Amino acid sequence: MNKERFKEFAYELYAIDSPSGYTKKAIEFLENKAKALGFETSRNQKGNLHVFVPGKDHSYKVGISAHTDTLGLMVRSINGDGTLRFTNIGGPILPTLDGEYCRIITRDGKVYTGTILSTSPAVHVFKDASTAPRNADTMIVKIDEIVKSKDDVLKLGIMNGDIIAIDPKTTFTESGFIKSRFLDDKISVCTLFEILNMIHEDKIELAHDTYFIVTTYEEVGHGAANLPEIDELLACDMGCIGQDLTCTEYDVSICAKDSTGPYDYEMVSKLIELAKREKCQYAVDIYPFYGSDVGAALGAGHNIKGALIGPGVAASHGMERTHMQAIESTVKLLLAYIQA
Ligand SMILES: [Zn+2]
Repeated sequence: MNKERFKEFAYELYAIDSPSGYTKKAIEFLENKAKALGFETSRNQKGNLHVFVPGKDHSYKVGISAHTDTLGLMVRSINGDGTLRFTNIGGPILPTLDGEYCRIITRDGKVYTGTILSTSPAVHVFKDASTAPRNADTMIVKIDEIVKSKDDVLKLGIMNGDIIAIDPKTTFTESGFIKSRFLDDKISVCTLFEILNMIHEDKIELAHDTYFIVTTYEEVGHGAANLPEIDELLACDMGCIGQDLTCTEYDVSICAKDSTGPYDYEMVSKLIELAKREKCQYAVDIYPFYGSDVGAALGAGHNIKGALIGPGVAASHGMERTHMQAIESTVKLLLAYIQA
């Protein structure tokens, strides 16, 4: 893989806010990248992107998915003092948002910056500044505009239902770490596009007709509920780290079972075989609190086999971190899979 290209691509994609329900700009960016490489693309009604790559065999079709939608917030109501109350989109760890910067995006496309704070934000004033719970009822968004009343906020064009995007703070360190919110799962989207670049550049021949699928509602449960005509789906999504799990920030994780049950036995066995053969740094784990786009597809009634792999991501749905070694192993495993 080309690490410099991967890094540049990641910085570009992370600069485009894409909470579930507000992914059009990210999808447009990705669609243009795929088209520039000469691939055929299409979108379904809810905005998922399908990039088609023909393979040697046309009788059995494969899908590889990653989701570009992220966690976020939405304006729930406007307070009399000009601050905003919010509802969450997906399941961010709300206490980790205390003090984070955000962007409020109005329906007519204006963007205002702000800060997410607790309602007891000052240690010199509030006895419970350190101990107050951090949840949607005890946190607010302070807009970086001179607003002293609800009317002032309405005059800016901000209203209930506006998207609030959280600053991902994407950082690649010299030591190879990637620190950012939403490594789940934009870093897998970047990984799939690195694979597309490699297919284009190195004329890699795929075993089967393959759809690279970018979903847009995974964080709220129905990302891959609609799919192109495929026989099996490999979801590429973050690998879990913690407690009795063996995956680290340096591994590609192969998930044998998550909250929705076991993945396809043959596919998982084949992925483990390929990981061994390619000498990937890998782990096989059971994710305790997790559902993927494969679950969404199966739940919607698709007649497919499904499996799940992805780079190990620490502190998921908070301030996440992984390492380039995990990305490299994921790339190796994906390349072996599409050619097998
Ligand atoms: Zn995810």
